[in-house]
Amino acid sequence: MLSTMHDGPLSIARILAQGTGPHGSSEVVTWTGAEPRRRSYAEVGRRVAQLAHALRQLGVTGDQRVATFMWNNAEHLETYLAVPSMGAVLHTLNIRLFPEQITYIADHAEDHVVVVDGSLLPLFGKILPTLSTVRHVIVANGDASALEAPAGVQVHDYDQLLRGHPDTFDWPEVDEHAAAAMCYTSGTTGNPKGVVYSHRSIWLHSMQVCMSDGMGLAQSDRGLAVVPMFHAMSWGLPYAALMVGASLVMPDRFLQPEPLVRMLSTLHPTMAAAVPTIWQGVLQHLDADPQDISALREVVVGGSACPPSLMRSFQERYGVPVLHAWGMTETSPLGSVARPPAAATGEAQWPYRESQGRLSSAVEARLIGEGGTEQPWDGKSVGELEVRGPWVASSYYRDDDPDKFDDGWLRTGDVGTLSPDGFLRLTDRAKDVIKSGGEWISSVELENQIVAHPAVAEAMVVGVPDEKWDERPLAAVVLLDGQQADAAELREFLTGRVAKWQVPDHWAFLAEAPKTSVGKYDKKHLRKQHAEGGLDIKHA
Ligand code: AMP
Repeated sequence: MLSTMHDGPLSIARILAQGTGPHGSSEVVTWTGAEPRRRSYAEVGRRVAQLAHALRQLGVTGDQRVATFMWNNAEHLETYLAVPSMGAVLHTLNIRLFPEQITYIADHAEDHVVVVDGSLLPLFGKILPTLSTVRHVIVANGDASALEAPAGVQVHDYDQLLRGHPDTFDWPEVDEHAAAAMCYTSGTTGNPKGVVYSHRSIWLHSMQVCMSDGMGLAQSDRGLAVVPMFHAMSWGLPYAALMVGASLVMPDRFLQPEPLVRMLSTLHPTMAAAVPTIWQGVLQHLDADPQDISALREVVVGGSACPPSLMRSFQERYGVPVLHAWGMTETSPLGSVARPPAAATGEAQWPYRESQGRLSSAVEARLIGEGGTEQPWDGKSVGELEVRGPWVASSYYRDDDPDKFDDGWLRTGDVGTLSPDGFLRLTDRAKDVIKSGGEWISSVELENQIVAHPAVAEAMVVGVPDEKWDERPLAAVVLLDGQQADAAELREFLTGRVAKWQVPDHWAFLAEAPKTSVGKYDKKHLRKQHAEGGLDIKHA
């Protein structure tokens, strides 16, 4: 028997209509370093229609790709909304990748148009001549005449391009399974992989972001989206915000702790999302120069494991709960969030909050152990996490990666346990687990313990080759400004916190931790530095 329900498509155009119509008085606020720029969603809606007309005039039809090379700001949000709503495909380019990777990605996706921030023109200008399919560049917030256009490429000014176009658009009805947006993962081996989101997957994922047991984004929120719009769609915040009418605060290029703290204390966001290294910097800044950030009801942290000490410090010193979430570009990205069960109160909440949390009901999971056997959800058996669901990729765009997918299941590359009540605890990335004397050492667990030392700002642990034990942990540490600690003291600190044989015997003290294009610890780089003898190793 078929249902009696209407079968209309779930579409970005509906999210746009809801956000810019009934929620037209909500706003997107873009930080500028001086007076923030404010734009109501009603105005965003009018400009989105104008942008869609302008893109049509430039010849954008069908599922052509319109790329962005931008910071998080109002114009990026407008492009997010206009491109999929008109049936084309938004492609967010990661501005921090190596130029050759950007060229590969833009060519692979066959980007036709690129919307670029004026402040990024010096970088983009070098890449543009290498892009083979781009025909139009639209410069937002900058001087379009500063860009030298290669033959066959036209350069436009964003605001001028919008001017004179009607501020309504007859949005086409799109198939909900059609591509809406794409994002490449910066894989550590091989070429970057394209993940293509559908209107349906974005819609369902947005609902999950808004569920109270998801990120709980609601109309009453002002969300500070620190996580870049070019990294896993800013964790879904832009579309989710328009879906429910939550306002957005966009940091633009001001991602250092000082301006972020000013945004928190002057624009009063109620929630904010960023990777742990950003929150670590914000915490240090707040400790040195305390500010009122009490408008925050919660901050979301994910992208890599959040050290428990960071979560506790935020809560204890500033009264702000930190919500730990897990996900990947391939999972749209929200997979799980760590909200403790109602029965756990006080101190008993922490083991749940420190875990990667419970997977959302739409995301199925299984753990595959060594030898390919499925592991029980007993909180002890370890395996690689595999997931599938309506907002989880089951293939890459024009790339048959044989290792990443298994009959619709995504092999996450993340290793850990699942408890009977569904809490995911990741011990490591499969490739970062340290194999020492036949036993496994979790690099994440060591990092969490080291960073709990009061003199330590950041800690990274990798396995390095060892003749006797196969691998041994190397800890690279960044100390807090003005603080002292040596290898012997840190080793002593770890005693009793981790098994004795796990305590690192190689230590390096760095001025800065190497990070990837999305702000995570770059362990590959650290291993390379070690292999090339580029680290000053201390042995305690
Ligand atoms: P990306 O696609 O760049 O967002 O990277 C996804 C990967 O980040 C995951 O496969 C995990 O290895 C890691 N990751 C994301 N969130 C967490 C978390 N809460 N704890 C540990 N690792 C995480």
